[in-house]
Amino acid sequence: MTAQTTTTAYAYAAPAPKAPLERIAVERRALGEHDVLIDIKYAGICHSDIHTVRAEWGEGGTFPVVPGHEIAGVVAEVGPGVTRYAAGDRVGVGCFVDSCRECENCRGGLQQYCTGATGMIGTYAATGRDGKPTQGGYSQHIVVDENYVLRIPDALPLDAAAPLLCAGVTTYSPLAHWQAGPGRKVAVVGLGGLGHMAVKIAHAMGAEVTVLSQSLRKKDDGLRLGADHYHATSDPATFEALAGSFDLILNTVSADLDLGSYLGLLKTDGTLVQLGVPERPQEVGAFPLISGRRSYAGSLIGGIPETQEMLDFCAAHGIAADIELIRAEQVNEAYERVLASDVRYRFVIDAATI
Ligand SMILES: [Zn+2]
Ligand SMILES: [Zn+2]
Repeated sequence: MTAQTTTTAYAYAAPAPKAPLERIAVERRALGEHDVLIDIKYAGICHSDIHTVRAEWGEGGTFPVVPGHEIAGVVAEVGPGVTRYAAGDRVGVGCFVDSCRECENCRGGLQQYCTGATGMIGTYAATGRDGKPTQGGYSQHIVVDENYVLRIPDALPLDAAAPLLCAGVTTYSPLAHWQAGPGRKVAVVGLGGLGHMAVKIAHAMGAEVTVLSQSLRKKDDGLRLGADHYHATSDPATFEALAGSFDLILNTVSADLDLGSYLGLLKTDGTLVQLGVPERPQEVGAFPLISGRRSYAGSLIGGIPETQEMLDFCAAHGIAADIELIRAEQVNEAYERVLASDVRYRFVIDAATI
């Protein structure tokens, strides 16, 4: 494979909104000065992929769309100006592949909050600098600017590392920002793809971790992943017993929540951080906020420096995602199982089967 010209990659794409994914060919751009051509080995399946192919996040998407923003692979070839990577390096690509590079957030390494003209350029379903739609990781290879590529440490297996590029950093960033660590009590709402990473990372940071899940069905898993406590939110006694307990609560679910009840679980100065995106706006009463100087906040993935920091942290602590490896043609079935919360805890596509 030479990348002096455009290259063809096979990929799994949704040809139209709500249509099942099917195998198609996509064109990847010729290697630019600072581009890296990556042989994709694994791609995680994120709930956002499903929202996108089902056009649940608004109109205007371009089809066909190749989802996938949890990408792990190996560098095949680099452009002449590339200094950070060489052929054979183990690398990852997360939720975005470019940004304006000039705004205050980009200069500060917070590319996910880019306020420039391009905004954050998503790994798929966005418009690249070449004016063409970006196509994601359910694919044999991808071309990405070296400044938006991450290094995957040798200690991390590539398949279990893939989900770190979205689920890992989405939970690491708020845990780091709100200082989860020894002496701090952290609650994780929901034990799915995001939640299971939140538990592992918060535990590795030294925090006391509690899972708040609808039922006790996954309790054994939660404790195995590193939780110290596990409570069912379907039991009203949970909210009485845990009132005023936590420094930080990460809400990883997209369902409607009674935010007042959850804010009541925070200590004075505690923060409830929203990571999932419910369909409807959520109501927040003032009383649970003012009585305890509590905060209701949000957080979106992480910037490039923090994503690298997260990968290095996970390698140092020997943690990665719990995955179910699938063949590419199983992707539609996997989507149904994600929607039924029937995955422990992330599907990863073996790109060799594309
Ligand atoms: Zn994602
Ligand atoms: Zn920017």
